[in-house]
Amino acid sequence: MSDVVDLRSDTLTRPTEAMRKAMATADVGDDVYDEDPTVHALEERTAELFGHEAALFTPTGSMANVLAVRTVAGVGQEVLCEARAHIARAELGAHAAYTGITMRTWSDPDGGVDLTAIKQLFAPDMGPFFVPTAAIAVENTHNFAGGSVVPIEDLTALREYADSVGAAVHLDGARIWNAHVATGVALADYGRIADVMAVCLSKGLGAPIGSLVVGSSAAIEESRIWRKRMGGGMRQVGILAAAGLHALDHHVERLADDHANARLLAEAVGVDPSTVHTNIVVFEQVDAAGFVEAAGERGVRVAAVGPTTVRLVTHLDVSRDDAQLAASVLSAVAAH
Ligand SMILES: *Cc1c(COP(=O)(O)O)cnc(C)c1O
Repeated sequence: MSDVVDLRSDTLTRPTEAMRKAMATADVGDDVYDEDPTVHALEERTAELFGHEAALFTPTGSMANVLAVRTVAGVGQEVLCEARAHIARAELGAHAAYTGITMRTWSDPDGGVDLTAIKQLFAPDMGPFFVPTAAIAVENTHNFAGGSVVPIEDLTALREYADSVGAAVHLDGARIWNAHVATGVALADYGRIADVMAVCLSKGLGAPIGSLVVGSSAAIEESRIWRKRMGGGMRQVGILAAAGLHALDHHVERLADDHANARLLAEAVGVDPSTVHTNIVVFEQVDAAGFVEAAGERGVRVAAVGPTTVRLVTHLDVSRDDAQLAASVLSAVAAH
C-alpha cells in the first residue's frame, strides 16, 4: 500500500518493472526514416484494433487530436463538439493556432451526442457570411463529464447523420479503452463510427508517454508530414512504443478494477455509484479547493476542476487497498 493515494489523474502512473523491461529490450530504428520496427508494430496493431488502415504514434494526445482533426477540417472551417470537450477546453487553442479552425459547441450533461442540437448547429454552406461546418467531434469516454461512456447507439446515429449530410466524424478516444471494458463494445465498433480518431496509451493503460492517430492511409500520410512540421518527428522511439505494446497486452482488461475502485470512491463521497461509468468521479463541493486541501493533509490527493467541482481518477497505481483507504479518508472529509 502507498503512503499517499494519488487520485488527481490517470496520467500519474509510473511504468511497471515488466513494462520497463519491454522498453529496455525493444528493437529500434530511426522513426523519421520510418525504420523503427517496434513503432511499426504498435501502429499496425492499433490500426487493426479499430478497423482502420493506418495509425501514427505521437508524443501526446493533444498532438494526436490536432493532427486528426486537421485531416477533416481546414483553415476557416469549423468543427462541432460538446462544450466541455478536451479539444475545445484543454488543448490551449492548439487547433486554432496550428490549423486555423474554429469550433461551435452543444451541451450535454453526460458529454454525449445531442443530435437535435447538432442538426441545428450544422451549417456546411450558408454563403460567404458563415463559417462552414466540416466535421463533428465526439469524446468517449468524456473526461470532464466524469468518464461517461457515450452509448454506441448514439454514436451510430451520429455516423448515419454525418453520412447523410457529408460531414466527417472525429473521435477523441483518449480513454476509448475504458469505454470498451465498461460496455463490452468492440474497439472496432467504436472505430467504425469515426473517419479519424485519437487514442492515448498514457492514461489508464499506464504507458509513460504516447498516443496514436488512427484513420485512412491518406490521413495518416498527411499526419506524418504535419507531425514533423510541428516538431514531433521522433527517432529511436520504439523504446516508447514498446511500453504501448506492453500496455495493450497487459493493461486493458484490468481497467475493470479501476472502474470498481471508482464506484467504491463514489459511494464514499455521496455519489450514486451507478452513475459512475468508468474510472472518473466528478462531484460538487461547496469549496472544492478546501476539500482538496483537507484530503491532501490526510494523504489522499484529488483535483479541483472547477470552483465547486472535484475530480477523482483511479488508475494502475491505485490498488484495491489504496482505494479502500482513500474511501474512508474522503468520506470523513466530505462529512465535514
Ligand atoms: C488526456 C486527454 C487528451 C490528451 O492529452 P495529452 O495530455 O495531450 O496527452 C485528449 N483527450 C482527452 C479526453 C483527454 O482526457
